[in-house]
Amino acid sequence: MLHSWEMYQGCYVHIPFCQQKCCYCDFISYQGQSPLVMERYTHALCREIASWQPDLPIAGHSTIYFGGGTPSFLPLPLLERVVMALKERGFWKQPAEATLEANPGTVTRESLAAYRKMGFDRLSLGIQSLDDRELRLMGRIHSAEEAERAFREAREAGFTRISVDLIYGYPTQTIKSLRNSLQRILAWNPDHVSVYGLSVEPGTILADRLKKKVWQLPSEEESGRMYDELMETLPQAGYNRYEISNFAKPGQESIHNRIYWHYEPYMAFGAGACRFNGKKRETNPGRLPLYIEGKNAEPEALSEAIRREELVFMNLRTAEGLDLHEYEVRTGESFLKHYAQALEQCKARGWMVSRNGHVVLTDEGMRFGNRVFEVFVD
Ligand code: SF4
Repeated sequence: MLHSWEMYQGCYVHIPFCQQKCCYCDFISYQGQSPLVMERYTHALCREIASWQPDLPIAGHSTIYFGGGTPSFLPLPLLERVVMALKERGFWKQPAEATLEANPGTVTRESLAAYRKMGFDRLSLGIQSLDDRELRLMGRIHSAEEAERAFREAREAGFTRISVDLIYGYPTQTIKSLRNSLQRILAWNPDHVSVYGLSVEPGTILADRLKKKVWQLPSEEESGRMYDELMETLPQAGYNRYEISNFAKPGQESIHNRIYWHYEPYMAFGAGACRFNGKKRETNPGRLPLYIEGKNAEPEALSEAIRREELVFMNLRTAEGLDLHEYEVRTGESFLKHYAQALEQCKARGWMVSRNGHVVLTDEGMRFGNRVFEVFVD
C-alpha cells in the first residue's frame, strides 16, 4: 500500500483573472482581460487537464481547490467546463473537500447556488478588512457591506464551510480598525479564518506608494500589537490555530492546504500553477499567451537536501509539528541526529519543544517563523 506522500492528494486549478488588481498583490492574476481571452484560457486549461494520463496515482478522496486570481470572476459556463474536464479525467471523484476562492464583489445568489450545484462545498472569501477606507486603499472592489452580503448569501446557498481572509499591518490600519473588522467577522461565525501579515512585494502599487512616501506602514510595534490582538481573540472565540496563519473551528481545518504543509504530492493546472509529485516540482508558464499556446512547464529538480528542508519547514508550520517517525521513514535518517544543533538552539530560545514524537513550534516560534527556519538551513 502506498503512503499518503506517494500519491496525489489534491488538485489545484489556477484562474488568473481579476476584475481589478489589488494594490498589494503580486499573484499571477490579470485585470481587464476580454471574454475571448477567458474563453481561450479555459480551452487551454481543459486541454492541459485532458493531457494527463488517467492512471496517475490519485488518492480516493483527493481534494479540489480553485484559486487565483479570482475563480468567481470566471463566467459560470467556463467554470463549469473546467469542472467537467476534471471529472472526465478522474481528478474530481468524491473529493474530501472542493474549495472555490471568491471575491465578495463578484458573487451573486445565482452564482453561489451554481457553485454548490457544481459540487463546491467550501468557499474561501477574500474579505481582508471591513473598513471601507482600508478596502479602498487596498484596491479591493467590494465594500464592507458587500462582503457581509456575500457571506450571508453564501450561507443561504448552502455553504456550511466558509473561510475568510484578513490582512493586518496595512497602511492606515490601526489596532482599533483591525479589532472592529475582526469583531464584525466573528459575529458572522465563519468556520475558518486566515490572517496574513502584509508583505510588500516589489512591483506592486503598494511598494511604489511606500517608496514615494505617499503611504506609510504601521510601525513594527503597532503591527506587533495587531498580531497579538489576532492571536488572543481568535482562540478565545473558539478558533484553533492549526497553522502559522490559519485558524479553524474544530473539524473545519482546510484539508487541501494540509497537503502542502505535509509535503504531499498534488496536481496543479493553469497559468503559473505549480505541481509536485513528491520528488520534482513543475511550474507552468505564468504569462497568458505562453500558457494558452501550450508552452511546457518548467521542471525544477529538488535535491534530497532541499526536499528534506522543505519537509521540515512545511510540517513545522502546523500546530501538530513534524512527526519524527514519519520523517525517518521518508528521508531514511534521524531528524534528532541530523538537526541536533539546530533543535537545541531553537529549544534554548523557546521556539520549539518536543512532544509525543513530534517537534513543534511554540507560540514564540510561530511568531518568528522565518528566523526559526533559517536555523534549519544546512
Ligand atoms: S483579488 Fe486576489 S488575486 Fe486578485 S488582485 Fe486582489 S488579491 Fe490579487
